[in-house]
Formats: sequence, structure tokens, C-alpha cells
Amino acid sequence: MNYQKTIEEIYVESQEFPKIGEVSASIPELKNISPDKFGIFISTHEGTEFGKGDFQEKISIQSVSKVFTLCLAFSILGEKIWQRVNVEPSGNAFNSLVQLENEKGIPRNPFINAGAIVIADILLSHLKNPKEDFLEFIREISGKKNIQFNQKVALSEKQTGYRNFALGNFLKSFGNIENKVEDVLDFYFHQCSVEMTCEELAHAFYFLANEGKTKSGKTILNKSQIKRLNALMLTCGFYDESGEFAYKVGLPGKSGIGGAIVAVLPRKFAVATWSPRLNEKGNSEAGMYALELLTTKLGISIF
Ligand code: GLN
Repeated sequence: MNYQKTIEEIYVESQEFPKIGEVSASIPELKNISPDKFGIFISTHEGTEFGKGDFQEKISIQSVSKVFTLCLAFSILGEKIWQRVNVEPSGNAFNSLVQLENEKGIPRNPFINAGAIVIADILLSHLKNPKEDFLEFIREISGKKNIQFNQKVALSEKQTGYRNFALGNFLKSFGNIENKVEDVLDFYFHQCSVEMTCEELAHAFYFLANEGKTKSGKTILNKSQIKRLNALMLTCGFYDESGEFAYKVGLPGKSGIGGAIVAVLPRKFAVATWSPRLNEKGNSEAGMYALELLTTKLGISIF
């Protein structure tokens, strides 16, 4: 498998990709990211790694963090978490409120904001020092000690996160939040503000491509749990564009409004891309294109 050649070709072709979409406007502190950044990094099962472009620049990981919080909650509580959040695609925007009313406060899945807020509440109830323990978890799976929150981004979202506060309060009214809504959202805004490079993201996701074992050999989740996590990323990782991503790319993955996408091919590789221009579904258009090129050129996907 000639990964290096493929990554280089993808870089060139992605530079020619039309400049579609805008940088997310929903968090004021993120508005100033330069829109035409592009990075890609792949970490393979054979131990080889290749990066191109801005793959060593820190990105606001935003909703990619929902995979980390879910893995941590799943590793602590196991199947019990599904009593409070479902495992079905939502077919709605990531920050939508509409289904919650009919479905009595049980979010469709852990990757829409409502579901991630419930997972944040679970972590708040089960971790001694939630923010620090969460950072330690990411540091452990990525093998990088310097991973931090961006306090300015967390504060900026807190000051403008009216919809997330609405979701938190709505969930609380159904009895699906145990802690104070304010505390849960403080944790949620911090988890979203974590900054990581494409290289660190690919390393952190590696265990999802490696039957639960990190690059350094530590088991985080068992094989059956990894199957469930990857199934969820495939069906729900891109909100109401999950079908499109599966159709074009054919890999489980997760996006964030900072422009990152991370995807895995079980037993083969973990790959991260970064391009801040988002389409109307909140996913990075050039990132999706780069990953479509990757599976097409390599001729491998989960299908
Ligand atoms: N922090 C953002 C929010 O809650 C994350 C959204 C995203 O990346 N899709 O709205």
C-alpha cells in the first residue's frame, strides 16, 4: 500500500478543490481561523506514518471530542449508558432540539449535542476531577502530554451557547441530567475547546482502528465495544450527512466545526484531516473530499 504517494497526491488535489463554505461563525473566538488551511496525517497498522500540509498545527477539535467523552464514559459504565442516550441516526442538525420533545429527553445518539451533553453529565457524576481526568484520558490515548483546553474558546462558547443551554435545560426537565446544567455545560464547552493537531488526532483515534489498543499497547475498550463505537461513528458521526460520508468515503469517522475530520479503517489505519471551510451541515467539505480520494485511490474501505 503506497500511503505516502497517496497522501501527496491528495494534498495536491485538495489544493485545487473549489473553496466551498465558510469558517464556522457560531463560536466568535473561532471566526479568525484562516479558511484555507489544509492538513492530513495517517497512522497505519504497519507502523508507518505520513503527513502533509498543516498537520502539525493545533485545531479546535470541537465535536471530535464527543468520541473521546463517549469512549471514556463507555469504559467506566459499559452498556448502562444506553439507558440515557440512544444509538440511532438523527437525520437532524447537530444542535437540533426538535426530536427531544417527542422522544422524552432521550437523545438519538451521543454525537448530536443533546447526546454529548448527557455523556458530559455522566462523566461529571463519575470522575473525581472531570476536566483534568478527561485531559489525562486524551493524553494517554494520543501519547501526547501537552494537550490542553483553550480557555478563550471555552469562554467564547459559554457566552454565546444559547442553544446548548436550551438543550441542557430541556434535558434536565426530562430528568436526564443529574448535575447542575451550568456545570455540565461548563464541562461540555471545555471538552469542545481542546486543541490537537491532525497528527495527535490520528494517534488518539488509533485504538479505534486497533481493536481497542493504543499505539503504546494499552487496552482502552474491548473488541465488542470498538465494534459499537465504530458503528456509531459510521451511522451518526456526521449528523444529517452521515449517509453521504458513508456513501462517499466508506469509513467510520467524526467531524468538528473547527474543520477536523478523523476516520478509521479497522486493522489498517487512523487518518485525520483539517480544512476549516464548512458546508451547511457543519462538516468540512475539503476534508470529506480528501478522505473520499483516500479510500478511492487505495481501493479500500469497510465495504
Ligand atoms: N461546540 C460546538 C457546539 O456545541 C460543537 C459543534 C460541532 O463541532 N459540530 O455547537
